[in-house]
Amino acid sequence: MSDRASVVVVGAGVTGLSTAFWLSRAGVDVLVLDRNRVGREASGRNGGGCSHHFSPLFPEEQRLWPMMDELLGYPTEFVPHQISISLSRERLHLYRRTVESAAYHGFVMEELDARTVRDLVPLAGDNVLGGYYSHFGGKANPHRTVQAYAWAVGDNGGRVKQDVTVTGFDRAGDRVTAVLTDHGRFDCDHVVIAAGPQTSRLAAMLDVDIPTRAARAEMIVTEPLPLMPHTGVDGNGLYGRQTLRGNLAYGGGPHEWVDTEEVPCGNRPSSPVAISIAQRVAQLLPKAAHARVIRNWAGIVENTPDGRPVLDQPAPWTNLTIGIMSGVGFGLSPASGRALMQLVTQRHCDFADLSTLRLDRFSELEPGWDVLQGWMPARRLAS
Ligand SMILES: Cc1cc2nc3c(=O)[nH]c(=O)nc-3n(C[C@H](O)[C@H](O)[C@H](O)COP(=O)(O)OP(=O)(O)OC[C@H]3O[C@@H](n4cnc5c(N)ncnc54)[C@H](O)[C@@H]3O)c2cc1C
Repeated sequence: MSDRASVVVVGAGVTGLSTAFWLSRAGVDVLVLDRNRVGREASGRNGGGCSHHFSPLFPEEQRLWPMMDELLGYPTEFVPHQISISLSRERLHLYRRTVESAAYHGFVMEELDARTVRDLVPLAGDNVLGGYYSHFGGKANPHRTVQAYAWAVGDNGGRVKQDVTVTGFDRAGDRVTAVLTDHGRFDCDHVVIAAGPQTSRLAAMLDVDIPTRAARAEMIVTEPLPLMPHTGVDGNGLYGRQTLRGNLAYGGGPHEWVDTEEVPCGNRPSSPVAISIAQRVAQLLPKAAHARVIRNWAGIVENTPDGRPVLDQPAPWTNLTIGIMSGVGFGLSPASGRALMQLVTQRHCDFADLSTLRLDRFSELEPGWDVLQGWMPARRLAS
């Protein structure tokens, strides 16, 4: 098989699909390739959190989410607020820093006393010390969102091909001329690599070094419980939401460092982490402590050394764009995809300063940075 598209995007997670959505909306001929199914990796397995106040993309993230259902033409189940519960004084103190950071961008977080938290979150208990109500941020449904992006790409005339594994690239001078796959070659004018934890491995085929390490993060889901008036509730080191059906879907650290070569089996949860999450959900929402855990899963998170995304067009290539989100990619996806679209079409982003997300910030990284941070998979540490 051989084909061509003006822009080929590698990866049908939220980053690649959002990029393709914005490109197709701008009338660009775009093709997304994925070795698996749409959203099968972290993009369909996450907590659905849409609030990243430390990112230069934060204002755009907050501007776009309330509009996404209309822009995409399909529901994401986005809820535009969230409640952060505190079970300790230290956590209350930490939340105050978030309040300051949000206020800097003009967003409001309201302090709540323990009683108000219990009124707003009926599953909370007597261990609550207080909390915050964010009039921004919120949560969306990852599965619905990923599917909405994919359908919207199709509606705009773009294409998404599943079960196509990218195996290499053809090049001529400073240009990538084709994407090579197990289903043939795809000629193109521009390539976007947004393959999550596999981005570094693919970029290395073009001699671009992106320092990342992958970790497994897990989530649990309980049986349905009565729907709370506010479904986006965080705290106790957890992120998550109550689904429209009433299930509590929660995740949180600790993460487990894994080797990307082993990713085919990396999506299996490891039960000690799931048990820890379940225990912490029972502490956060004691009136749900009786609920049975009916499902759990794992997803692989891509991590850069400083935990921030890389959105860049690395030299010497004149038609290559990279998008790797370092574990914050779901919420930022409307904004990251729009930023990547602008990098492709005009080589700069006009709504956010992306200078802190450039790849060259890692040019002086010390050797063994991952071992120093304790980030190596156990097998490699032992060898
Ligand atoms: C449990 C968990 C909870 C999380 N919670 C949140 C949260 O609340 N909020 C938030 O913002 N973020 C959260 N994240 C992080 C977020 O899910 C990721 O940052 C985001 O989904 C990354 O999206 P992506 O499209 O960049 O990568 P991915 O979702 O990993 O998608 C990459 C795609 O590339 C494809 N691919 C890889 N190699 C190839 C190849 N060779 N050829 C073709 N295709 C290829 C893969 O099949 C995959 O579909 C969480 C992650 C996990 C695992």
